[in-house]
Amino acid sequence: MSTTSSKPSVAVHKFASCDGCQLAFLNMGTDLLDLAELVDIVHFVEAGLVAPEQAVDIAFIEGSVSTEEDIERIQLIRKNSKLLISIGACATSAGLQALRNLADGDQWLADMYPQPQFIQSLKSTEPIKAHVKVDYELWGCPISPGQLKQLIKSLLLGAQPALEKDKLCLECKRHQVVCTLVTGQNPAQRSCLGAVTATGCGALCPSAGRACYGCYGLSDNPNPHALALRFEGFGLVDSEIAQRLLMIHSNEVINQQEAKYWSDAVENQTGKGNSHD
Ligand code: SF4
Ligand code: SF4
Ligand code: SF4
Repeated sequence: MSTTSSKPSVAVHKFASCDGCQLAFLNMGTDLLDLAELVDIVHFVEAGLVAPEQAVDIAFIEGSVSTEEDIERIQLIRKNSKLLISIGACATSAGLQALRNLADGDQWLADMYPQPQFIQSLKSTEPIKAHVKVDYELWGCPISPGQLKQLIKSLLLGAQPALEKDKLCLECKRHQVVCTLVTGQNPAQRSCLGAVTATGCGALCPSAGRACYGCYGLSDNPNPHALALRFEGFGLVDSEIAQRLLMIHSNEVINQQEAKYWSDAVENQTGKGNSHD
């Protein structure tokens, strides 16, 4: 163990993020108190514990890598951690921040700041795995406290965590949720990404009558093209389909490739005619 205690030591580190995934720890409620009996939480700024350079058994990482300083920090954390686990869309795929990778970052800075030369950021925002070895990933924006609990339980028992990537539609069926893609009243409600999105959230959005926007990342064997053609049938225009695919996980190559198909169609429509012809 990395501390004098016989309990495994745990750290929760934050990079570029909104803190929502760290809140999943705090939202564990009484389970967090049980967890505190089983592990030593040594660094978790949101909970008032500060020891960022302490060696630990398990490091949870929220957020994406956006600056040179972030690169140095994640490399040090990796050196100091036996297991490193990325939590949330920002850490696993660079999440919403990665949208800037598709744009002219320098132009954005110039538009937003009067003196952009003082902003120190990398040319692109990257997931944690782009810089260090990651042992496990929990996807979601935010992650689910239930999944987090399962992962920690498995690690404490010395078992391999089961991180399923079944399609969200299966979770809807198991919970007997009415399908918004079939019964929705408008294109926004019908354009559910559940058929290409991984399970884990308990079909949260469809349970509330809303379409899934894909925050748990791609499922095993996704077929975004077939789904996008369905969206087109519902009346979404090409640019809306591209935006839908890039909303949370724009850094994922499969999403980029499919979005490009629809973005190219937009260009062809405004220039040389519809590429779907
Ligand atoms: S994944 Fe979502 S909830 Fe989690 S830190 Fe990033 S933006 Fe916040
Ligand atoms: S609501 Fe979405 S996730 Fe649920 S079954 Fe329909 S398409 Fe799949
Ligand atoms: S239904 Fe989709 S968007 Fe909603 S929480 Fe689950 S994975 Fe995320």
